[in-house]
Amino acid sequence: MTSAVVNIPTQSTSDHRVPAVAGNALRVPLVTGGSIGYANLDHGASAPCLESVRTAVDQLLPWYASVHRGAGFASQVCTRVYEGARDVLREFVGARRTDSVIFTRNTTDALNLLAKALPRGTSVVVFDTEHHAALLPWGGPRVRRIEAPETPAEAVAALDAALAECPEGPRLAVITGASNVTGELWPVAELARIARRRGARTVLDAAQLAPHRPVRITELDVDYVAISGHKLYAPFGAGALIGRADWLNAAEPYLAGGGATRQVHERAVSWTSGAERHEAGSPNTVGVHALAKACAELSANWADVVGHEEALLRRLRAGLRGVPGLRELSLFGADHERVGVVSFTVDGQDPGLLAAALSAEHGIGVRDGLFCAHLATRRLLSRAGSDADRAVRISIGLGTTTEHVDRLVHALRKLVAEGP
Ligand code: PLP
Repeated sequence: MTSAVVNIPTQSTSDHRVPAVAGNALRVPLVTGGSIGYANLDHGASAPCLESVRTAVDQLLPWYASVHRGAGFASQVCTRVYEGARDVLREFVGARRTDSVIFTRNTTDALNLLAKALPRGTSVVVFDTEHHAALLPWGGPRVRRIEAPETPAEAVAALDAALAECPEGPRLAVITGASNVTGELWPVAELARIARRRGARTVLDAAQLAPHRPVRITELDVDYVAISGHKLYAPFGAGALIGRADWLNAAEPYLAGGGATRQVHERAVSWTSGAERHEAGSPNTVGVHALAKACAELSANWADVVGHEEALLRRLRAGLRGVPGLRELSLFGADHERVGVVSFTVDGQDPGLLAAALSAEHGIGVRDGLFCAHLATRRLLSRAGSDADRAVRISIGLGTTTEHVDRLVHALRKLVAEGP
């Protein structure tokens, strides 16, 4: 069965179509943000909103009302929208029929929710290359960190060894789909297979993978997936944790409050099971609707999305190779498959000043720093032989055009030629 984003009765007929970004031959038009000429090469932080998502949000706004509890028509529309979005997300990540889809604020929130829901005494194994959202939520003595591997095979062997040393009891392996520093793809299916063999569940941080490649829970055989709407071409405020319901239904509610309760008496509270158990309070129906619309749009256009990014990434990396003194960061080697993320330093150039000059002089938005992955970025800087204490990150996606890429390469060459 194919899930569809719930249709909303049209109250306003205003037409918000924005032309596709010039030079972007995709069938997935974007909202450009209206800032003509601005090259947003920071998709890895937050991606621009799809035009169809904006239209979907516009259509819902006149109707938004309390979900679940209202008797009125608008409440019923919003409840259908909100609950329908769960099916769209379940399909987007190829989830099992029995998996819970819990709406959160973002990936960080989703992973913290899972951390709170782990059965007592769960051993957690996590690579130290993770984004802080996946590295830090797991507290307590039973957390083991694996040092950044140098090859995918080493990653699998290191996870195997770490899990073998875990005490008896529940286990969780935290893995990432694509690095937010290098864009490199991790061997998710192999890691999940090893984890399963060692009796561990896996959670996939798909924040950086899901906007670029299809994620299929059942094919990868992972247990949980966390995603963020604002990286998936929807506005901020909605994300999701999708995965096995048993631990989640047995855990204390993530938030205590209305919506998560079944009965409240003077001295006792009984909580609902299912997704609502962890979604107390009035939910972000508009954000969830936007997220579902973006997921549906990506699902329908993967060939275009991947093709567009791969062509631009090839062009970008070829251009960067011509910049004197540029050192690209890499975990698994320059030839390893990656999504559209490239971090680098340039000998003799301060990464912060370089990023500022790209913005001020060339209208190009990039990011500089350690990218909320301090351990990973420091290590990769050292592996690249760079003496910089931070890097510049370029991340591309559906809002990127060949002109943006060419402008960046030209600007970098110019800035480097001018000297520090
Ligand atoms: N994981 C990865 C790989 C990320 O790139 C990010 C954000 O940059 C996160 C997790 C956290 O996402 P959010 O800030 O949406 O919670």
